[in-house]
Amino acid sequence: MSHHSGRHFLQIPGPTNVPDRILRAMDRPTIDHRGPDFERLGNEVLAGLKPIFDTDQPVIIYPASGTGAWEAALVNTLSPGDRVVMFETGQFSVLWRELAERLGLRVDFIPGDWRSGASAADLRAHLDDDKAHAVKAVCAVHNDTSTGITSNIAALRKALDDAGHPALLMVDTISSLGSIDYRHDEWGVDVTVAGSQKGLMLPPGLSFNAVSAKALYAAQFSTLPKSYWAWGPMLKANENGLFPYTPATNLLYGLREAITMLMEEGLTNVFARHNRHAEAVRRAVSAWGLELQCQNADEYSASLTAVRLPDGHDADAFRRVVLDNFNMSLGNGLGRVQGQVFRIGHLGDFNDLMLAGTLSGVEMGLKLSGVPHTAGGVNAALDHLVETKA
Ligand code: PLP
Repeated sequence: MSHHSGRHFLQIPGPTNVPDRILRAMDRPTIDHRGPDFERLGNEVLAGLKPIFDTDQPVIIYPASGTGAWEAALVNTLSPGDRVVMFETGQFSVLWRELAERLGLRVDFIPGDWRSGASAADLRAHLDDDKAHAVKAVCAVHNDTSTGITSNIAALRKALDDAGHPALLMVDTISSLGSIDYRHDEWGVDVTVAGSQKGLMLPPGLSFNAVSAKALYAAQFSTLPKSYWAWGPMLKANENGLFPYTPATNLLYGLREAITMLMEEGLTNVFARHNRHAEAVRRAVSAWGLELQCQNADEYSASLTAVRLPDGHDADAFRRVVLDNFNMSLGNGLGRVQGQVFRIGHLGDFNDLMLAGTLSGVEMGLKLSGVPHTAGGVNAALDHLVETKA
């Protein structure tokens, strides 16, 4: 590998850039996880997470990647053979579905084209057909990281309410929490799944379940096997700020700092920052004459943008040119859109100049790779950043 001076640009849609404040916060000796200092840390992060999920209800922390929290949501609330509804919004909906099926759940997969979000109208029709209430849960990916599509969770909640259907609502916010407006309590979500490595600006290794009273009630009757993921012992130990097994102590130091940083900036400002950067990226894409993977303007993701390359141009070869020449990692196309799409992550600890550098790398990469485009995308983005500078 050739030598690269300067710093690497990590512009995949997670894991994201870990700010120095968080790195410094984690750079401490690990402490006794059953002692009083840990109790204080545990209590602080368990309480501090609630406003991030916009909830007054418990948030459970696992020393695991997001996939663990996906599994935890299902095994704590459901029983073998239960029917659940999922929506095809991209690769992450496909992976959650596969996980559910491996657990012995029956998934009604509402088909999608990977260019639009979960449809509340389709959900309503599906639930209206389910007079016997065989469907036990509706599971949606809030922001599908493979396609850059954000689904309207409040609309799904409304569809459940309008249908008078008692199914649980579970939402994956792995690439939206701390980046895109999200309201666990207001939207009546029963289990919110999240991870540490995106909007929370932490390294990978922590994941979360925020749980409603209705989810906790359902947990009493759930018979899917569970041990490591079981909510019961977690919630019991959490009463004193502790965990039933060895927690990821140093990641929790980082989490405490991440919560402090998000609260200092203010969540409304965090969401506005992500929206502004996302709009600047879309202006660049439009000026280049390239196509977004997401087709509906009201479903554009604020945390990442998935860009389609013209037919005959391989997105992975393009990403390789950018990496080799400019030391920048862009996200690859996943599953069905592999080779067709590249993804720009603009979430987490991110600012205008990082965005300018990122888009410059993309524009130079397009030129070097011979991808047909119109120059001027970077300028279009910069104009937006200047026009909207408060
Ligand atoms: N769901 C979404 C929306 C994701 O973006 C990811 C990972 O990127 C996952 C689930 C899986 O999480 P993990 O890779 O942390 O297990």
